[in-house]
Amino acid sequence: MQAELSVSVGNAGTWLDEHIRHLESHDVLPVARAANDATYETDFGRIHLKAQNSELQVRIDSPDEAALTTLQGSIIDYLKETDPAVAERVSWTGVAPAPGQPKNFREMTVQTVRPLSDWLLRMTLKGDDLAPFDQRGLHVRLMFPETPGERPVVWPRIEPSGAVHYPDADDTLTVRVYTIRDIRPEIGEVDIDIVRHAGGIFSDWSETAQPGNKIGMLGPGGGYFPPEGWLAIGGDDTAVPAIRRIIESRTDTAGGHVVIGLHPHQAPFEIDLPANFAIDWVRTSDLVDAMQAIAPPSADTGFFWFAGEAEQARALRTYFKSELELPAERRSSGAYWRRTGSISKS
Ligand SMILES: Cc1cc2nc3c(=O)[nH]c(=O)nc-3n(C[C@H](O)[C@H](O)[C@H](O)COP(=O)(O)OP(=O)(O)OC[C@H]3O[C@@H](n4cnc5c(N)ncnc54)[C@H](O)[C@@H]3O)c2cc1C
Repeated sequence: MQAELSVSVGNAGTWLDEHIRHLESHDVLPVARAANDATYETDFGRIHLKAQNSELQVRIDSPDEAALTTLQGSIIDYLKETDPAVAERVSWTGVAPAPGQPKNFREMTVQTVRPLSDWLLRMTLKGDDLAPFDQRGLHVRLMFPETPGERPVVWPRIEPSGAVHYPDADDTLTVRVYTIRDIRPEIGEVDIDIVRHAGGIFSDWSETAQPGNKIGMLGPGGGYFPPEGWLAIGGDDTAVPAIRRIIESRTDTAGGHVVIGLHPHQAPFEIDLPANFAIDWVRTSDLVDAMQAIAPPSADTGFFWFAGEAEQARALRTYFKSELELPAERRSSGAYWRRTGSISKS
């Protein structure tokens, strides 16, 4: 499936250079780069960007409509960051964004909520057509009305530009990013593990959520399984679902090292480890040091993965890149939450 777009962005060459730098800061590198164009390969398809004077030309090749919707939305989000009015000038050719609910959106129903420990809840959601959520990316955006009421919930819709439009005013949604801890498309179920922290809007909502409550799920987007081979993987409480899903998916015996940071009031629990993995439970405040103490079997093997609080993620991204000198394909460090405010992009 193909979609194309041509839009005036002022100096398109400068826009492209800045965009490439921005993606590089998130360890996303083009597979091909020339003076005025760049190509990216993603789990959702290929994006080709070309700058011609003031025109930015975009071509997307995706395997299906849900993947195309994801890439069209991400391109428009980037364009809107530099020019919020750009969406009005955008017109796609080929497969244009389909109006209505995004193809990668599902209305889900809360089936059960149960504590896995005193600091982690498991929410099982039920919905239709979940196979695409098992294929690309680990993360989803979950949402519910900020002010629940009797009237029907208004879910996000796709704008003609491809941007996802979230309702506002009385229909505003609380949107947070979570990890698909487990998924069983054959019976239409998804598990989400939620860290309980007082004062968190989503965390508090999940404490009182009842079977039958509706919740929107958009995605998947972002986050991927590191390649096989030796793996150093660490994070705080919010990364536990992703760490468990990633290590459970290992099929080789190269092994690795898991580091999990917990707060003093949080007790560790049993985690099944794949062959040749060791685990350290440390204080969250000691996570960066603990990750830095891990030595790979040799300098040219192994993947380093981390997720947690934004400052720790930034420190480790720099460490992986500048101290260990790991190429982008051997490292990942993601911010899952900030001390002030939330991270709404998946
Ligand atoms: C890609 C990705 C995947 C994620 N996966 C998961 C997951 O599977 N499970 C999970 O529990 N979280 C996960 N998170 C983190 C989660 O989105 C944030 O913790 C989010 O802020 C929680 O929303 P809230 O409404 O409960 O708190 P908010 O209302 O967003 O935050 C309220 C206050 O609490 C602080 N805060 C936020 N999270 C925490 C925390 N964990 N501990 C202490 N203080 C906090 C904030 O700084 C803010 O001051 C993920 C985040 C990303 C980006």
